[in-house]
Amino acid sequence: MFSRVFGFVSSDMAIDLGTANTLVYVPGRGIVLEEPSVVAIAHRERGREVIAVGREAKAMLGRTPDSIETVQPMRDGVIADFTAAEEMIKQFVRRVHRRRWFTSPRILICVPASATPVERRAVHEAALAAGARRVYLIEEPVAAAIGAGLPVSEPRGSMIVDIGGGTTDFAVLSLGGVIYSRSIRTAGHAMDEAIINYVRFNHRILSGAASAEAIKKEAGSAMPKVNGTRVAVHIRGRDLQRGLPAEIILEPHDIATALSLPIQQIVNGIQQALAEIPPDLAGDIAEAGIYLTGGGALLDKLDVRFSNETGVKFKVAEDPLRCVARGSGMALEQLDTMADLLIKP
Ligand code: ADP
Ligand code: MG
Repeated sequence: MFSRVFGFVSSDMAIDLGTANTLVYVPGRGIVLEEPSVVAIAHRERGREVIAVGREAKAMLGRTPDSIETVQPMRDGVIADFTAAEEMIKQFVRRVHRRRWFTSPRILICVPASATPVERRAVHEAALAAGARRVYLIEEPVAAAIGAGLPVSEPRGSMIVDIGGGTTDFAVLSLGGVIYSRSIRTAGHAMDEAIINYVRFNHRILSGAASAEAIKKEAGSAMPKVNGTRVAVHIRGRDLQRGLPAEIILEPHDIATALSLPIQQIVNGIQQALAEIPPDLAGDIAEAGIYLTGGGALLDKLDVRFSNETGVKFKVAEDPLRCVARGSGMALEQLDTMADLLIKP
């Protein structure tokens, strides 16, 4: 009776703690929070004080006085600044539970497949410190595959390429386990950097990370020649010779050229994975196609480019930015039947 009345007011939550974005899923409610993984810290005489997290803190990136520091606690998929990560999780958990009847929740949280035992432990500890009663860990590609609707528990190979902010992760799964996984440090941020470098060397203008990211989303493409229809965009920055603000116009072709190196590095990772996995699994994957998740999967024509380069079909998962959070949430909702997919404590 009690569980019927209170059962749906779950205090449990699944967290996708990404380099760029953190998402929280509450069973029965779905994704309830999506914020950049950024913490703003003021250095005061009495010590460090968190003044903003998430969107508000991201808006301060590159725009802070000396006394305020913006920290991205996750780097390369793992915790780089433990205190900031703990503080960020705590704040997000609090926001989700605002005005709610509250008991300390069970928290399911993702870790990269390539995380070391020490790095996993750190995530576990951070969730406990943020107030979790129990912590479950799941490997990110497993969560991504569940979220993408792949048959993870079957004896059949599935392949996920998750292009996030800091890392691209390649994973092959079968029978609920990770058969192959590798991570490279080329993903969304590297694409932004490539645009900054292109503009710097070809136009002598230094642009900021926020404008480069905006340009990438608005006008970036993985196929330089095929799309003549995309419009040119303006990018602002500082003229390196005169030291003054300047603005130039980038053609779609410029942006595609700038992005070609990071994209090629991801292609190399895909080819390496396909070459290293057992042939039967490679056959399954060729038949089912490779699934793209993470924000980077939203880059225009990326699936087409990957297919051309590898000869394998690619599919962008539905709502790729939320795949990992959705899959983690589903694992938490079905903890009894999906226990085998979690990392054994
Ligand atoms: P993480 O899991 O590391 O937090 P996400 O999966 O949230 O990363 O993806 C964030 C990355 O996706 C960022 O680098 C962002 O710029 C990129 N991204 C988001 N939307 C697009 C888009 N439309 N085109 C290209 N890249 C995008
Ligand atoms: Mg991610």
